[in-house]
Amino acid sequence: MDQPQKQPVIIGNWKMYKTIEEAVSFVNKLAPEIKESKAAVYLAVPYTAIKSVVEAVKGTSIVVGGQNMNDATQGAFTGEIAVRMLLDLGAHFVLLGHSERRRFFHEDDAFINRKVDRALTDGLQPILCVGETAEERDQGKTEEVLTRQLKECLNNIDPSRIDSLMIAYEPVWAIGTGKIATTEQAQAMHQFCRHWIQETYGPQASAQLKILYGGSVTPENAAEMLKQADIDGLLVGGASLSVESFSQIITSTS
Ligand code: PEP
Repeated sequence: MDQPQKQPVIIGNWKMYKTIEEAVSFVNKLAPEIKESKAAVYLAVPYTAIKSVVEAVKGTSIVVGGQNMNDATQGAFTGEIAVRMLLDLGAHFVLLGHSERRRFFHEDDAFINRKVDRALTDGLQPILCVGETAEERDQGKTEEVLTRQLKECLNNIDPSRIDSLMIAYEPVWAIGTGKIATTEQAQAMHQFCRHWIQETYGPQASAQLKILYGGSVTPENAAEMLKQADIDGLLVGGASLSVESFSQIITSTS
C-alpha cells in the first residue's frame, strides 16, 4: 500500500534582513506563487515586521513567528522580548536555540530549556534547533552533542506537551556555508533524534513530532532531502530571502 504523502513544513528564517516594506512586499509576491502548494509554510521574520506581515498574510495559510524570545514573562531585561509581546504581534511560533544565538549570544542549553518551557506554557510553538559543529563531527561526537542538546533543552518538558514543538536538525557547518549535509548524513541524524524521542517520550510522540533539516537548502536540493523517511520539513535561511528561490523550494517539495 502507498504511504500517505506527508505534508512538509517549510520554514523561512529571515534573520536580520528586511524592513517592514520589504517584508510585506515579499509576502504579497510569495502568496500567489505558493497557492497550490500542500506544504505548511512558516516565516520567522524580524520583530519589527511581524505585525505587518501577519496582516499581509491574512487569508493565506502562511504562519508567522519570531526568531528568539526571553524566558521571563516580563522584567528588567533591556532589549529582550517576551512571549506575550510576540503573541501581541500575532506570532504563532518561535525559533529557539538557533546556532547563531548559541554562538554569537552565548546561549546555553539550560537557557534554551527555560525558553522552550516558557513558550509552551504561554502558548507559542517552539522550533528547537540542534546540531553539531564541524569540529564536533570530525571528532566523532555528533551523536553525543545531539543527545546532550535534546536532553538538556527538553529537560522537564512533560510528554503531553512534546508534540506541540518541532525540532530542527541544523548541522552548524552547513548553515550559510553552501555545504549541505548529504541526504544520508541528514537522514541518519534525523533517525537518531527520532529514536531518542521514542526512547524518552514513547512511540506516539516519535511518530508525531516533526523533525526538520536546516543548512544550505536550495531549490536544487530541497526535494531530495524531503524524500528521506525521517525528514519532515526544511528550515531555510539564505534561500528564503528571495521570493523566487523560496517559492521554488516550496513548490518543488509538495
Ligand atoms: C538557518 O539560518 O537556519 C539556515 C539553515 O541557514 P541557511 O539555509 O542559509 O544555511
